[in-house]
Amino acid sequence: MKRILITGAAGFLGSHLCDKFIKEGYHVLGMDNLITGDLKNIEHLFGHEHFEFYHHDVTKFVHVPGDLDYILHFASPASPIDYLKIPIQTLKVGSLGTHNLLGLAKQKEARILIASTSEVYGDPLVHPQTEDYYGNVNTIGPRGVYDEAKRFQESITMAYHTFHGLETRIVRIFNTYGPRMRLNDGRVIPAFIGQALRGEDLTVFGDGAQTRSFCYVDDQVEGIYRLLLSDYEQPVNIGNPHEITILEFAEEIIKLTGTKQKIVFKDLPKDDPMQRQPDITRAKNILGWEPKVNREVGMKITYDYFKTLTEEELRYSEHKDFSKYIQK
Ligand code: UDP
Repeated sequence: MKRILITGAAGFLGSHLCDKFIKEGYHVLGMDNLITGDLKNIEHLFGHEHFEFYHHDVTKFVHVPGDLDYILHFASPASPIDYLKIPIQTLKVGSLGTHNLLGLAKQKEARILIASTSEVYGDPLVHPQTEDYYGNVNTIGPRGVYDEAKRFQESITMAYHTFHGLETRIVRIFNTYGPRMRLNDGRVIPAFIGQALRGEDLTVFGDGAQTRSFCYVDDQVEGIYRLLLSDYEQPVNIGNPHEITILEFAEEIIKLTGTKQKIVFKDLPKDDPMQRQPDITRAKNILGWEPKVNREVGMKITYDYFKTLTEEELRYSEHKDFSKYIQK
């Protein structure tokens, strides 16, 4: 039986990856420090004979017992609100955390896949974004802590590949959504759905002309799975190229939820990318992958998930207070 370590296991993507690899017959070791992750996302796996959980911060030395065949490094805050609240942790998990996991992969002779991001392209000047675009990132802006950590992560991963011959994979993840997104992480989908469910107006930032392309989580997980098992070491974009403006998206949410509330406009956050759409030619050619779930279907499943949250969870619209986790 193959053994895989998944960091960020209690997070949105990490928990879905745990499910996928359990389903595919792997022994899964999940790891998370639970700053932004939530054990609720994986509690259904507790007691499974092929699932273990380690409460650990990967920016500290990482040790797990036994052999490992694969490592998936998915531990990181992943929303602009989180970067503002925990900027140093965001930098550390992408840099020091990645270094620790590369060292572990080398020691265990495991293949490692690291979760990179469309944010390596910054506010892109090339559209749609191909993997050979170098990006347009403000190093010292609010998103810089995430973007630069992820860019460093790609560099150090490639260095371990070329210098140590480590088997490495790099996925550049574009906006992904689905059940288990954190309601209060500030991202647009939980924000809009939460607002609709609480009977609040929908907050569109700027004039809403900025675009995103949203990928359903099952498609994302399938792309990551195929990339891990492929023999391809260059970065691969995984995302859904179907692009929409944020204003049009807000209107879709109003239709989906039937809310009687209106759209209100708020200031556009600094360095908010104006347009984003993955070029997925590489994923199609190399992995035979393309997304299958359209937004209407994916958003209905996601909305149904958010409807299962309790009144109390829904009312908890304040952003999570991380201060108790932060070492001074
Ligand atoms: N956004 C918005 N209202 C909100 C939250 C986000 O209009 O309440 C916008 C945000 O400015 C951005 C887009 O939605 O243009 C996607 O934001 P998100 O934080 O989900 O992800 P990212 O900007 O990292 O793609």
